[in-house]
Amino acid sequence: MPKPVQIESLENRFVSSTHQQIIKRISEAVVNANIHLSTSVEAIVSQEMEKGDKKLIVKTTNGNFEFDEVVVTIPLGCLKLDTLQFHPNLPQNISQAITDASYGRLEKVFVAFAAPFWERSETDASQGGDTYPMFTHFLRPTYALEEQRLWTLEMLAVSSTALFGAHAQPLLVFHLWRAAAAHVTSAIASLTPSSDEYYIVINTLFQPFYSRLPNYKEDCPDCAPTAVLATKWQNDELAGNGSYTNFTTHYCGGPLKGDPAIHDGIRAMRHGLPERGLWFAGEHTAPFVALGTSTGAY
Ligand SMILES: Cc1cc2nc3c(=O)[nH]c(=O)nc-3n(C[C@H](O)[C@H](O)[C@H](O)COP(=O)(O)OP(=O)(O)OC[C@H]3O[C@@H](n4cnc5c(N)ncnc54)[C@H](O)[C@@H]3O)c2cc1C
Repeated sequence: MPKPVQIESLENRFVSSTHQQIIKRISEAVVNANIHLSTSVEAIVSQEMEKGDKKLIVKTTNGNFEFDEVVVTIPLGCLKLDTLQFHPNLPQNISQAITDASYGRLEKVFVAFAAPFWERSETDASQGGDTYPMFTHFLRPTYALEEQRLWTLEMLAVSSTALFGAHAQPLLVFHLWRAAAAHVTSAIASLTPSSDEYYIVINTLFQPFYSRLPNYKEDCPDCAPTAVLATKWQNDELAGNGSYTNFTTHYCGGPLKGDPAIHDGIRAMRHGLPERGLWFAGEHTAPFVALGTSTGAY
């Protein structure tokens, strides 16, 4: 078993590659365990036995299982939607914490090219100067389609060999939220990612943005995407119809960022219900520095 850590003092870890190492580390602790894939948990029932012993019955789509202790790692969005029933109900401090923390709806759109046309050519670069900045913020794009003019978008170019070395890709990653995220996810909801229509829908929505990058020419083959892919977590019940915990600052009369009640709520979820053998884990229970991240979940 990995050594227990003092969670409040944990440093903010940075994953410099993929999540593969996290999965590997976690799986070390579950050798000889039974893993039930494609199985949804529907309810967790706490039962008191004779002599004060306790057990938990986990009711799933593939039968019921009995445990001494259970760690619940479903997303905050699922807890908010009550997709999993607890018997008896969760205590007030934990159900209030679930209500108070908000759950964001961030989505990502990946647009890949044969070559990163926006980067300076090797000849230009050899004469000095930086590569294209990694981060671009598009604000109120008057040049985009009518329905996109109030969007704000963030774009990451992961193409700079100076920054990403061997991991550099001719790839643009757009981050979307609110109206933009809702628009894109509903536009592709019924389309298969391998279809021409899917490509056309995404390309039509994002061409106004990538076409503003340096060196873009409409008739240049390198300036047309070779592949596109968008997430649609807000349509996914198992993702809790969203992305990860956030603290909205525009609540009227509700909790605000920095409100100690929210902090106490997160701590209450992290503390769990030891007396029932029931624990919570996941990004929504992480130390504050890492809430909403994979490293926080880890
Ligand atoms: C667009 C976007 C960008 C992000 N960018 C970053 C980033 O750059 N860096 C970073 O660190 N983090 C990032 N994150 C956040 C990171 O992905 C999450 O914080 C992390 O995945 C949370 O892990 P988790 O284990 O808590 O939950 P999840 O990864 O959501 O896992 C929960 C699991 O529970 C399962 N589940 C749900 N309901 C049930 C049920 N009833 N029965 C059984 N299983 C169930 C789900 O299928 C899912 O597999 C990003 C997230 C999004 C959406």
